[in-house]
Amino acid sequence: MAVDHEAETEARERAGRRDEAVRAAVEQGLLGPDAAVVGLLDAIGIRESATALRTAFEAVLAPGTPVLHAFAVKASPLVPVVRLLHEEGIGAEVASPGELALARAAGVPAGRTVLDSPAKTPAELREALALGVAVNADNPQELDRLDALVRSAPTRSPLGIRVNPQIGGGSIGSTSTATETSKFGVALRDEGAREWVVEAYARRPWLTRLHAHTGSQGIPLELLARGAAETYALAEEINARVGRRQIDTLDIGGGLPVNFAGEATAPTYARYARLLAERAPGLCAGRYGLVTEFGRSLLAKHGTVVARVEYAKRSGGRRIAVTHAGVQVATRTVYAPGAWPLRIAAYDAEGRPKSGPEVVQDVAGPACFSGDLLAEGRALPELAQGDHAAALDTGAYYFGHHYAYNSLARPGIYGFAPDGTGGIAFATVREPQTIAEVVAESGGAHASALTTLRAPESR
Ligand SMILES: *Cc1c(COP(=O)(O)O)cnc(C)c1O
Repeated sequence: MAVDHEAETEARERAGRRDEAVRAAVEQGLLGPDAAVVGLLDAIGIRESATALRTAFEAVLAPGTPVLHAFAVKASPLVPVVRLLHEEGIGAEVASPGELALARAAGVPAGRTVLDSPAKTPAELREALALGVAVNADNPQELDRLDALVRSAPTRSPLGIRVNPQIGGGSIGSTSTATETSKFGVALRDEGAREWVVEAYARRPWLTRLHAHTGSQGIPLELLARGAAETYALAEEINARVGRRQIDTLDIGGGLPVNFAGEATAPTYARYARLLAERAPGLCAGRYGLVTEFGRSLLAKHGTVVARVEYAKRSGGRRIAVTHAGVQVATRTVYAPGAWPLRIAAYDAEGRPKSGPEVVQDVAGPACFSGDLLAEGRALPELAQGDHAAALDTGAYYFGHHYAYNSLARPGIYGFAPDGTGGIAFATVREPQTIAEVVAESGGAHASALTTLRAPESR
C-alpha cells in the first residue's frame, strides 16, 4: 500500500505514544492486580484523524461546499469519544435509540446528526423528526411512515432515501452492504426499483437527500468510489426528471478500510478523497452538499487493549499465554480470526516493550472455550507470567463493544495524552464494571422470578 512520508511520521509517533501510555498505565496502577485488562484511547491520535478527514475533503471539494462528516457512533459508542469528535467538527451518524441518546449526551446538535438504522420504529421516526435529525428511509414501508409524519407536523429534518447500488461486496461478507441481496436500502438494480425511486422523489418535494453506504472493512477503495459515483449519477437523474435541484445533499456513507497489518494509516482519507474527485468529479463540484459517515477509520488506530498475562503454559508442545483479553473485548477476532486478525505487542511486567528472541505462541483470552484466542501461532518475544499483551488497532468495534461471555466485567477505558511535563495523563472514559453491576444486570433484582412462576393448578 502506498504510504506517504507524513503518514509514516504520524504512525511512528503514534506507536511511541502508545508505548508510553502502556508503561504509564502500569506505573499509575490503571492496570494491575485488580484491573487485569483495560482499553486505552489516544486523544491526540483521534484529533489527528479528525483533522485528516476534514482537510482531505476540503482539498477536493469546491470552496464553500457544505460538508457534514458524521461519525458512525456504532464504531465507538462512548460519549467522551463522540464529544471529542464533535469538538473537532465531526457530527454523528446513529442507528438506534441508544446511539441517538449517546450523541445527544455528547452535545451533538440534531442538525449535525443523521439517523440510518434499517429497523426504525414509528416512535423513533417521530422523535427524529421532532428533533430535526436527518433521516434516510431504508425502504418503501419506511417512506410510508415518513409520509404520514410529514403530513402530521412540520419538520426541519432533511429527509432522503437509502439506496443499494448493488455493485458487489468486498473480502468480508458481514461488512459488505452493496451486494445483490444486501438487507440495506432500496436495491437499485432490482426490476422497477430505479424508476420507483425516481417517482418517489418526484412525488415528494421534501425528499432532498440521497444516501448509500457501500460497505466497511474489506471493501476496495475503487468500489467505495464507485458507490459514491453511482449515487451521484442517480441524484443527477432525479433532479433532471423533476426539473430542479431537489436533491441538494449526497450522503456517501463511510467504510474506509483500516490497515490492521501494520502501523501505517493506509489508505488515507486524502487518497480516498482524491479518488472520489477523479471518479465522481460532479460530486465535488459544489452543486451538492456532502455527508460522510466514517467510523472505524477515525478510531481504530487510536485504541489499544492491554491485558496482564496471568499464566504462561505449554500444552502438547504448544506455548500459550493466558491473558485477560479475549472474546469479551475482541469478539469479531475470536469468532472470525481469518477476517479480523489483530497485531499483538508484548510488554513486560512494568509495561516496557519486551525484547528478546521471538517464539511462536498463542495468546489466549480468559473465556471458557478453546477458541478464545486473540492470536494463534504468533512470533513474539516470549510472554511470561506477569507480562502484558496488547491488542493493537482496537479503538473501533472492540473494547467499546463488550460481549458478556462468562459474565466477564466490562474493562475500564481511559483516554491518554502527554501531561506536558514528560509524563502521561489519563482520563476515565468509561468506569470498569463492578461485580455488583454484573449481578444487577443479570437479573439480580429478580432472583425469585422463575421459582414463583407456576402452571395454573388443574381442577
Ligand atoms: C457502519 C456504518 C458506517 C460506518 O462504517 P465504518 O466501516 O465504521 O466506517 C457508516 N454508515 C452506515 C450506514 C453504517 O451502517
